[in-house]
Amino acid sequence: MRYISTRGMAPTRPFDGVLLAGLAEDGGLFVPAAWPVFSPAEWRAMRSLPYAELAARVMAPFVCGGAVSVGNLQGMCRAAYRGFDCAAVVPLVQLESNVFALELFHGPTLAFKDLALQVAGRLFDHVLEAQDERVTIVGATSGDTGSAAIEACRDRARVDIAILHPEGRTSEVQRRQMTTVRSHNVLNIAVTGTFDDCQDLVKAMFADATFRDDMHLSAVNSINWARIAGQIPYFVAAALALGAPDRDVAVSVPTGNFGNVLAAWAAKRMGLPIARFIVASNANDILARFLAYNDMSATGVVETVSPSMDIQVSSNFERLLFEFLGRDATATSRIMADFRATGRMAVPDDVWRAVRREFTGFSLDDDATLAEIGRIERDYGYIADPHTAIGIAAARACAPVGMPVIAAATAHPAKFPDAMERAIGIRPALPERLKDLYERPEVFQRSSKRLAEVEALVRNFAHRNNA
Ligand SMILES: *Cc1c(COP(=O)(O)O)cnc(C)c1O
Repeated sequence: MRYISTRGMAPTRPFDGVLLAGLAEDGGLFVPAAWPVFSPAEWRAMRSLPYAELAARVMAPFVCGGAVSVGNLQGMCRAAYRGFDCAAVVPLVQLESNVFALELFHGPTLAFKDLALQVAGRLFDHVLEAQDERVTIVGATSGDTGSAAIEACRDRARVDIAILHPEGRTSEVQRRQMTTVRSHNVLNIAVTGTFDDCQDLVKAMFADATFRDDMHLSAVNSINWARIAGQIPYFVAAALALGAPDRDVAVSVPTGNFGNVLAAWAAKRMGLPIARFIVASNANDILARFLAYNDMSATGVVETVSPSMDIQVSSNFERLLFEFLGRDATATSRIMADFRATGRMAVPDDVWRAVRREFTGFSLDDDATLAEIGRIERDYGYIADPHTAIGIAAARACAPVGMPVIAAATAHPAKFPDAMERAIGIRPALPERLKDLYERPEVFQRSSKRLAEVEALVRNFAHRNNA
């Protein structure tokens, strides 16, 4: 499979180039040059497969052909999902006759990002081995992404990973999930500053050409196509379990950067009858406003009890826009440039109407989210984290009548003990594998927000591992 940029001004690339590059040179996002499609018979044949085998089969058209063989990918999927604490990997729990929670939190960091990142970390190692290269992955996190990236890259032979977090501004669970990882190739940096300072430092490291080239800087952020590819299989598994390809299903996805819901939409492009996409947001409701009145305007970020959806703009939306513009890269570039200049995205009315035929928006503020956690517990006996609760509320409110709806359960409730206590008066226990998280020793370096200081820490660390 070759990949093209949504802005049309970058050379096409094979999968391994896309994996290592992340963003295209023209500022666009990579998308497959053509969507692979499976026949109904091919889908039905996947129903009986163990999850790792199904994942390899769904991802193969996107990944295999160059440096990665089908056998390599199968091996990586098996190894990645062996580390999950549930044999089904992504169990589907029935809440009421037509509402199902797809539990995506049985991986090492208890959130859905593990599903793609556990494979992506292995893909990095494999592709770098083939090229005899190394990379240093740098990233900033306010919570979930950092720990999932660290767990994906720990102990990998060809990768060093340095993650910046704002000191004292992440939750204790989230910080400990990063700082208690003991691995020679993991560096945690606690920055005296905010999450925005951390993000600015990462951008500045990439902008420092000497540093970037010396360190072979790379990223595993949510625009990397490998992450989207790794998120398609669980929507496939759930849809097949509920009767697809012989029956329509809907999905409801708690959404931030639009990566997870885009993966569900990719499953539709590949031939599965997913008839409706419900995009669930918190008070940061840019997507809900867009879907309701074609108002895609960036406002300031509000902090909520569902922090992984606290976003200003959803970067992966560009991929959907590109598709709904009939893959017109010139029009996509123009709209994105306007958006950057004005903070408001002018989507042509006919395109907006077409998007609305498939997508419905929904949002809940914090009070309503906490109330919903209580209602889900009372009605279903189910403990949903704040992100998942918004998705379940959206599923109930927006699913077409009589159609089964898959609500993505994106995080384990034990990750958000304070919100859970406010909602239902309990602090959910951590699963067995993380029981002693609060006793494990933490390891991290401190830094001011001076670029030179952070770069020196990363340089020393990467050289130590290279020596
Ligand atoms: C990252 C995250 C989201 C948002 O996912 P996107 O792919 O960015 O839309 C939702 N819930 C949880 C728990 C997350 O960690």
